[in-house]
Formats: sequence, structure tokens, C-alpha cells
Amino acid sequence: MEKFIPDEARLQAVEDNYKAIRDKVYNTAVKAGRNPEDVRLMAVTKTVESVYINKAIDLGASLIGENRVQEYLGKKDELHLDGVEKHLIGHLQTNKVKQIVGEVDMIESVDSFKLAKEISRVSVAKGVTSNVLVEVNVGKEESKSGIFAEQLEELLYEISELPSVKVKGLMTIPPICDSESEVSQYFASMYQSFIDIRDKKIDNIEMNILSMGMSGDFEAAVANGSNIVRVGSAIFGARKYF
Ligand SMILES: *Cc1c(COP(=O)(O)O)cnc(C)c1O
Repeated sequence: MEKFIPDEARLQAVEDNYKAIRDKVYNTAVKAGRNPEDVRLMAVTKTVESVYINKAIDLGASLIGENRVQEYLGKKDELHLDGVEKHLIGHLQTNKVKQIVGEVDMIESVDSFKLAKEISRVSVAKGVTSNVLVEVNVGKEESKSGIFAEQLEELLYEISELPSVKVKGLMTIPPICDSESEVSQYFASMYQSFIDIRDKKIDNIEMNILSMGMSGDFEAAVANGSNIVRVGSAIFGARKYF
């Protein structure tokens, strides 16, 4: 259906959606008694053509997230990236690390020591420091990447020894839930893990960022301590996969 909508209409929709989501994130933070400045809205741009991404950026989106290395590298030259922070949020295979290190400001999907070690190795070789989040599989789902909360501390200690890779916090994608109260329990559990691990004050590990919440559940995430919400379809419309 979407292909029959003229570009101008879709650009207008992106504008309306972006402003509405931005305001909703802000108001949800205020309602939760939080400083709205502490909650950042990421525009998730997978499968979205550059013209629509640029529309969001021109409206003030200062943080974008891409899932696939190839897709990001293919469109980055068309994007208005001045002053925009770029995060990789999709699962990263070790054989793609070479291509993405140095191209993004953060890799949010580190879920093994093997991957962290490769990011470290490539970062040293390129003379850069890579900021990363550790992805936690909060619902312990077979189908999802991410480590279990129980393994978090051990992995963080291991990563803390690696040169040129800097952990800044955690990321999670909760299971698909039927209700806001159900998803809130996952977010609350994630927040508890975040606080517990932060209190351990592991050398060389920062715990300032908790990236959780997407189009369908960002309000529950903000209410439970998220400071990056990753919103795609609620800004850009339903994704078309080619
Ligand atoms: C696609 C994606 C999102 C955004 O999902 P929407 O439901 O479209 O908002 C957020 N995080 C990750 C890791 C994603 O892959």
C-alpha cells in the first residue's frame, strides 16, 4: 500500500511522527519524575531511504541507529550526518567488525567476549577507541542475541581488560508482550541489573547508558529508567523488507 503514497505525503508523515514521538518521550519522562534531558530519542533507520532519514535529522534527530553494517555503509554518504551520533544496534558478526569500527560512535550489540575481543583488536589497529553497550537477553529467549543477566558481571570483567574498547552501559530487547505491565516487568528487571552492576564499580567499565524501548513500548521503558529509546516504525512507518 505504501508505494502508492507520494513522497511528499511520507515526508510530512515523518515530520508529524517525529515531532509527536519526541514530545511523547519528553512528556513521559516528566510524568515519570525524570529529567527529560536524560532520555534520548534514537531514530532507527533500518530499511528507510536516506531522504526520510534526512528529514528526521533536519528536524533535530541527533542520534540514529542502524542494524546492518552493509546497509549503513551503503547509505551514510547520502545522510546529513554533521553533529549526528550513529549507533550500530543490530547483531554484529565478528567478520564484519573490520568494516564498522571507526564508522559509528557506539556498538550497542556486544554479546560475547569473542566479539568484544575482535572489536578491541580492530580498534587498536585503527587507532580508535570503540564505545560499546553489552546486550542483555532479559527474557532469556532462544531466538534472541544477548547474554543472560547472570553472565553480565563475568563478561564485563573480561571486557574491562581489553584495550581500546570502552563499555558505556547496557542494551536490551524484551520479549514481545501482551500488555504494558508485562513488558514493564522486563524493563524493571533490566534496570535492576543495570543498577546492581553499576554499584560494583568495575574498573574501566562505565554504566551510564541503558538503551531500551522501541515503538511499541518506549513509554514503559522511560518509566523504568531507560535513557535511550530506539524508535523506528513509529517515526518512519511500517518497514518494507526488500
Ligand atoms: C528495529 C529495531 C528497533 C526499532 O523497532 P521499532 O519497533 O520499529 O521501533 C529498535 N531496536 C532494535 C535493536 C531494532 O532492531
